[in-house]
Amino acid sequence: MNPKRIRITMLVVVLSIVTVIVPATVSAQSGRNSPVAPKRDIVIAAVQEAYNKFKNDNSGKNADYIPYLAHVDSKLFGIAIVTTDNQSVTLGDVNYSFSIQSISKVFTQALAMEEIGPDQFFDKIGSEPTGRAFNSPIAVVDMNTHTANPLVNAGAIASASLISGTPDEKWNKILDFYSKAAGEKLSLIDEVYQSEAATNTGNKALSMLLAKYDRIYSDPFPAVDVYTKQCSVGVNALQLARMGATLANNGLNPATGEQVIKSEDIPHILSSMMMAGLYDGSGGWAWHVGLPAKSGVGGGILAVVPGKGAIAVFAPPLDEAGNSVKAQKVIEYVTNKLNYNLFSPASVGWK
Ligand code: GLN
Repeated sequence: MNPKRIRITMLVVVLSIVTVIVPATVSAQSGRNSPVAPKRDIVIAAVQEAYNKFKNDNSGKNADYIPYLAHVDSKLFGIAIVTTDNQSVTLGDVNYSFSIQSISKVFTQALAMEEIGPDQFFDKIGSEPTGRAFNSPIAVVDMNTHTANPLVNAGAIASASLISGTPDEKWNKILDFYSKAAGEKLSLIDEVYQSEAATNTGNKALSMLLAKYDRIYSDPFPAVDVYTKQCSVGVNALQLARMGATLANNGLNPATGEQVIKSEDIPHILSSMMMAGLYDGSGGWAWHVGLPAKSGVGGGILAVVPGKGAIAVFAPPLDEAGNSVKAQKVIEYVTNKLNYNLFSPASVGWK
């Protein structure tokens, strides 16, 4: 064979190996699951039991400081689990699109970390729990970092300010990033945005306080506007669970096979969720459930089980701290049934 033909033959061989190997690698990666993850029928049973046990629980009250949220049907109730091998288990109102609210903060944190890296992000925002309400101006004054962490309003507005570009560019990047994590195109619920934009004087005040301490990284009010839009993104429970499964799967969306978040950022993001995801309810949450999670005043809670999957529950009535009552109960129940609590050796297979 002449050298040219040998080169061509080698190229054909290499290309055919690559085309066989590449898809296999992607599906193997997106299809990973912990060897001690519970089997699908056990997950289905736990979700069904939790749904039946809590469906008639009427405790808590819809958020009403954002007028739109007061009118959402309090009876809506949906549970979705997506595993790192891309199986889903859903029950109830899992197709209803609700506003993501504060759960968005996790993904803006992730996007900012993509841009500036974890060390700079930690310097500019921090990750200390406040022990105070999510919108507390006192925490901004009292805390050394002022921003406190990315999951309270002040730290979240500062995180949105960190995203590069004009306000429109920031917003487009954020929406695109959330959509990649969800594996589907997401969009703004304009009525929620209008309702919150008309009433968010408290968040504007937080942004000006941050400016006083040099802890906001763009003009304050445009940062609040981007933040208000990100909170108004619509998601259903299944989409939200997939966003969580992307975190559980080391940043790789198990449904699309796309590496959305750098794997080295994942432990930092989950640690922020563990410390502050349920605000001044975070200590109690860690005590009872032991999973990194994030709540939103729209009624959603997303909990992440690293290497196994994520649970998203939607039920609008909230407790005093602003966390969905039913969602907390469901996740606690399911976590106990499925040995998901990270602080329990049972989570790694010890019985
Ligand atoms: N958009 C809401 C706010 O800024 C988010 C709060 C929340 O979900 N806890 O108040």
